[in-house]
Amino acid sequence: MKKLAILGSTGSIGQSTLSIVEQFPERYSVVSLACGRNVDEAFAQALRWRPKLVSLATEELAAELSAKLKEAGVSGVEVVYGTVGTVACSTLPEADFVVSAIVGVAGLEATHAAILAGKPIGLANKECMVAAGEILTAAARERNVPILPIDSEHNAVHQCLRVGAHAEVKTIWLTASGGPFRKLPLAEFASITPEQALKHPTWVMGRRITIDSATMLNKGLEVIEACRLFDVTSAQVRVTVHPQSTVHSLVEYVDGSIMAQISVTDMRLPILYALAYPERPRSTLTFDLATLSHLDFEQPDLERFPCLRLAFAAAEKGGAHCIALNAADEVAVEAFLERRIPFMGIPRTIERVLAATPEAHPATIAEVLTTDRDARETARTLLAK
Ligand code: MG
Repeated sequence: MKKLAILGSTGSIGQSTLSIVEQFPERYSVVSLACGRNVDEAFAQALRWRPKLVSLATEELAAELSAKLKEAGVSGVEVVYGTVGTVACSTLPEADFVVSAIVGVAGLEATHAAILAGKPIGLANKECMVAAGEILTAAARERNVPILPIDSEHNAVHQCLRVGAHAEVKTIWLTASGGPFRKLPLAEFASITPEQALKHPTWVMGRRITIDSATMLNKGLEVIEACRLFDVTSAQVRVTVHPQSTVHSLVEYVDGSIMAQISVTDMRLPILYALAYPERPRSTLTFDLATLSHLDFEQPDLERFPCLRLAFAAAEKGGAHCIALNAADEVAVEAFLERRIPFMGIPRTIERVLAATPEAHPATIAEVLTTDRDARETARTLLAK
């Protein structure tokens, strides 16, 4: 029985993880949940799963949950809050696997603490790897802690890498759906509205990641994530636009063989893979190859998707540039959703923040967070002008 700590349990990856636990009660149980701000959902999850520990974003929300649990006659569930609470969830001695699915750098400290505590990680939070990948992977290697990617592309790469040695890898090919604007003429990019950008053709996801898919910055973050997770250079990572999102990614070996991973477009499969690795449990998440008629691949257009170009440049520089790329994008996406800047203002803002960011390689999580805060401040100042 694997006992899980789930960071970000009320988000979409967290809920999918719980549905896997539901389907495999003989394999998995839940010992801690870090929930953020949704008290009602946290209450429902605490009732259903009876974890030892639940963490919420603030002291007030934690008090609210405690009162609800008391009223419902539930005992034995301890409620904590804030970063300290999230870290307590990720390092709980009983936990033997941590699902890291808090969006943004908020999950960074808890993920780092879990690695230091020797807990295997199922990583769904790409910002962690982008902002602090150098630190996290070094700590994990030192302690022999596995980091199993839940991001669908990296999960696919992880699977494709099982058939060859690291030195035999030539290129990691990340597939991209191309988002809703794959065929839109460049001239029309200026008038893209938040409503148009929030419609993703194949995946249903959170608001920021949906916009990031539309700008292809999401794929750029995944390029950086791949470099860190699989210890390859940015020159060894390429992106191919694959509108069907059926091939989740590919690995090309030096002999010319290319391995691809194909499966249903459902996050529960990469979650199950990470939880069960190296086993493959029988599941109902099947893909009917007989219904597949064709697969398309095309080269990404860097003129329409400058975010991808910016991400490759940041990946090459590493350190502070990767942190600034992610931070500036988050601020810019927020501004776009609030209609303060146009769609192409997102890459413009990122480019200006990167130009203002000195090359540096933060060595601690605290330095990473400072660099992140500085980049956000720079972005906000630029946008206020
Ligand atoms: Mg992905």
